[in-house]
Amino acid sequence: MSDAPSAPRRALAPATLAVVAGRPDRVPDGPLSTPVVPASTYHAGGPRGYGRFGNPTWDAFEAALGTLEGGRALAFASGMAAISAVLDTLPVGAVVVTPQHAYNETVRTLRERAAEGRLELRQVDPTDADAVAAALPGAATLWLESPTNPMIEIPDLAACAAAAHECGVRVVVDNTFATPLLQRPLDLGADVVVHSATKYLAGHSDLLLGATVVAAADDAGYAALQRRRVSGGAVPSPFDAWLALRGLRTLPLRLERGQASAAELSVRLTAHPAVTRVRYPGLPDHPQAELVGRQLRGPGAMLAVELTDGAGAADALAERCRLWVHATSLGGVESMLERRRRWPAEPDSVPAALVRLSVGVEDVEDLWADLEQALG
Ligand SMILES: *Cc1c(COP(=O)(O)O)cnc(C)c1O
Repeated sequence: MSDAPSAPRRALAPATLAVVAGRPDRVPDGPLSTPVVPASTYHAGGPRGYGRFGNPTWDAFEAALGTLEGGRALAFASGMAAISAVLDTLPVGAVVVTPQHAYNETVRTLRERAAEGRLELRQVDPTDADAVAAALPGAATLWLESPTNPMIEIPDLAACAAAAHECGVRVVVDNTFATPLLQRPLDLGADVVVHSATKYLAGHSDLLLGATVVAAADDAGYAALQRRRVSGGAVPSPFDAWLALRGLRTLPLRLERGQASAAELSVRLTAHPAVTRVRYPGLPDHPQAELVGRQLRGPGAMLAVELTDGAGAADALAERCRLWVHATSLGGVESMLERRRRWPAEPDSVPAALVRLSVGVEDVEDLWADLEQALG
């Protein structure tokens, strides 16, 4: 398998790598794309051995994602399987510094492990560098999302990683919202990247998949996570890995379209009387504009709005939409929205009237017309 075509004259751009990375070697009559290899076991004598230890279709997905993130990837059955594998590598009693807002199942899992005495948590506002620094001494891991789900806050990953490493703390970044096309946490000092490949990477709302990525030189980190995958058994189906790789090939186009529409919609929503606040990193007056410009290659296609008339108005918006899909999840070709506080696990600090929007690839005027009629 090739990471890129042989002997490129210059470094390939991410949009090209998304198309070419992880392709089979170019041989006459060989397929252009890695086939699905459904196999629970393999003939003896090779390095793979058994279906839970490895699969050629996972390898292709991992090569592509690893190339885009600048590290070595491992595919898992879901984002939570990848996240749990990372948490499983921590010793009992380890201190984890966690953001106040993050994917709610991640927060819940951390809290459950803390209640069971397996971990100790220190919750911080990840955009407050002093608070992060104060929480680091004695910790094992700093857990970050950028942007955070669902508040769209941007922690300064480079600054957080530098402070963490001074204290010997490992840094994990959930890069699901930004994707490696907009943000490469390993380059900014992160030790582990986790993904819900269910979302943007696969991009079609038809499978669950997760991944971890560590730096190419981090053999110990890679081996520890690979070992958890084998023992935990949360392995992906080869077919899902194949679909995700197929989806990944068009990630640059999907993201470009979703981002352009999100930028336009965020401006129009800001001016709408039913909306009190729009959270989107691409807004010209965003309070973290300097950091956004430095850390992200683009503001992405995720935004959140707060409605003037409260939670009832937010629910009504979600219910009145005809084109936008009222559903949880994000990063698909179809635009989706939901009021996040409809989930009891979402913390009270997330406004009750906050609606999270994942902008897909539909025509932006159709998306706006639907939002406008639904806002009433
Ligand atoms: C959805 C999501 C997850 C969990 O991924 P699954 O594939 O649903 O298990 C983790 N982190 C973020 C930021 C997510 O949006």
